[in-house]
Amino acid sequence: MEDISSGSDSEYVKYWIDWFLGIKGNEYFCEIDEEYILDRFNLTGLNAEVKQYYLEALDMITDNLDEESFDEKAREQIEKAARHLYGLIHARFVITSRGLIRMLEKHKKGDFGRCPRVLCNLQSLLPVGLTDVPMTKTVKLYCPRCEDIYNPKSVRHAAIDGAYFGTSLPHMLFQIHPAYLPSKTNERYVPRIFGFKVHEIADQHRWQDKARLEHQNGLAAVELSSYAPRKA
Ligand SMILES: [Zn+2]
Repeated sequence: MEDISSGSDSEYVKYWIDWFLGIKGNEYFCEIDEEYILDRFNLTGLNAEVKQYYLEALDMITDNLDEESFDEKAREQIEKAARHLYGLIHARFVITSRGLIRMLEKHKKGDFGRCPRVLCNLQSLLPVGLTDVPMTKTVKLYCPRCEDIYNPKSVRHAAIDGAYFGTSLPHMLFQIHPAYLPSKTNERYVPRIFGFKVHEIADQHRWQDKARLEHQNGLAAVELSSYAPRKA
């Protein structure tokens, strides 16, 4: 299997998936089971998404591509197709029971970062797509505590296609593994000026404005009324 005899950083990784997952910026992806990839039923329709070098890309992902038979330019294109194909398969795999467990493990480790909202107390996030259509929107991070989404901090992560994770992942994960759903708190930040709640001041201003308006309208009505024809 893998060569562990050399102590130095290996410049050569035997498996394409290991290489792909090791690329800086690919930390959000989990490892897809090879048997999942090899089951053609799971890949139905993906050949329409990867129009060029689909089969070669699939061979590359599963380490079956004879790279020597392609020139540099073709290899580059196959690699590009392979990365895209991996993302598309990933979107399907992560919502299977095995895929959900794999993403849950990453979530538990905090691989997707933590919620930037102070009152969420460093809640671990999960990746989510805003659409399942590839090459439309980049990935966002979902916080199960405040139920809001955030942009990834790193530029590399922020450029990843959201469709590689899909719109359902976090919600399916908590449906299948509800124990990991954080408790909701009603704790909210209250804006204050010198200790006074800002909205209380605002309410007071609104009440004053309303009272003033009603007073003016009242005066106008009084002027029109025949009962009290006095001027204000
Ligand atoms: Zn949050």
